[in-house]
Amino acid sequence: MVQAKMKAVLYRGPGKVEIAEIAVPSICPGDILVKVKVALTCGTDVKTFKRGHHLLTPPSVFGHEFAGDIAAVGKDVNCFSEGMRVVAANSAPCNTCFFCKRGKHNLCENIFFNWGAFAEYIRVPARIVRQNVHLIPPGLSYREAALVEPLACVILGSEAADIQLGDTVVIAGGTGPIGLMHLQLALHRGARQTIVIGLKDERWTVAGELGASHLIDAETEDPVSRVEELTEGRGADVVIESAGLPQVWELSLELVRKGGRIVFFGGPPQGTTVSLNTDRLHYGDLTIKGVFHHTPRTVEKALSLLASGVVKAAPLISAELPLERLEEGLQMMREGRAVKVAILP
Ligand SMILES: [Zn+2]
Ligand SMILES: [Zn+2]
Repeated sequence: MVQAKMKAVLYRGPGKVEIAEIAVPSICPGDILVKVKVALTCGTDVKTFKRGHHLLTPPSVFGHEFAGDIAAVGKDVNCFSEGMRVVAANSAPCNTCFFCKRGKHNLCENIFFNWGAFAEYIRVPARIVRQNVHLIPPGLSYREAALVEPLACVILGSEAADIQLGDTVVIAGGTGPIGLMHLQLALHRGARQTIVIGLKDERWTVAGELGASHLIDAETEDPVSRVEELTEGRGADVVIESAGLPQVWELSLELVRKGGRIVFFGGPPQGTTVSLNTDRLHYGDLTIKGVFHHTPRTVEKALSLLASGVVKAAPLISAELPLERLEEGLQMMREGRAVKVAILP
């Protein structure tokens, strides 16, 4: 039996979150209710906390990376039952719109986002249940499994980067969780040299431990000359921008070699514009790609890469805090004192 009330953290506007007692979400026939075992803090949550989110009207539950146990299933749900260990993505495509029909499920026109992982229970709507809920394989913990959603996004970005055996890959903004996942995938895809540009905070050593061949301190070193030195003056084959900063978007063009590829993965604030060096873009024959979100295919792939240990989740989870201390966890991430924090409701 599921209780009637639960603890949840409510987002009340920029800089304001509070723990509250609210009703456990009710479910429709195709939905499931999940008892959250672990929710992870994510860059999006930090951004929401700092400046709000265009899709979130306060007061609202939030948090979207989680894993847990099924507490209840709607009467039309056949493939899941109470007690199963599951992980769910935060959205699922409609499969009928213009973009879905063209295989761009990440751009689905009818997408909606499921928030509410920073709570004891979360409702998972039918569309997500049908496409993006997975059983957690034995041997994978809840906190590792909860990394599925951001990793699914990173996989889409890594595929766009088309890293080839022997490539030199620069990950700009590489000491954050997204950059550290890109690093692991670049190594798995056979990059010869992985150069991480980041901030020398508490997360700095994680990039080295995960196998980055070179670390560049964005505050004290000149990334352009360092990358030149490491690439015989040519620049990197691939640059992945995962800082979400306009100046780093612009910098990426100075770091890539002629004929190279840039993936703009990090999202700057809405309305941001950047200026791009057209000489480098045109005469350098560059390929530049923007990437957003994930698809059911990359969600499935993310789980298999975590289960097989190709992507290690443990080094990305720096601390564990109870739900009541979520704000502290968001601050730790914001200040670079933690890669990600596991929140235990
Ligand atoms: Zn996230
Ligand atoms: Zn669609």
